[in-house]
Amino acid sequence: MELCTCRMCGFSFYKRIETNLCDDCAKKSEDMYDKIVRYLKEYPNSNALQISDYLNIPAYDVLTFLDNGQLERSHGVFEQIPDEPDFRLRGIPKNPD
Ligand SMILES: [Zn+2]
Repeated sequence: MELCTCRMCGFSFYKRIETNLCDDCAKKSEDMYDKIVRYLKEYPNSNALQISDYLNIPAYDVLTFLDNGQLERSHGVFEQIPDEPDFRLRGIPKNPD
């Protein structure tokens, strides 16, 4: 079992596989996703902020759906800030002992 923390409500819980949403929030997240898909069908050229404003969903959550591959990138409606390269992970070579 993995100890998981829900990124939406902060609740900690155990799951067989690692996840970042508790069951309640997973359900909410599904509803959100449905709304976004419906909105994009009506307004295909919206960006994450417009979706967020219209549906009253945090832009962060809209982008998370994109990151998870739940929304097709082919819509071409999202703009993402590229991640900072993580130098901590690859910067310092390990000292062989
Ligand atoms: Zn939750």
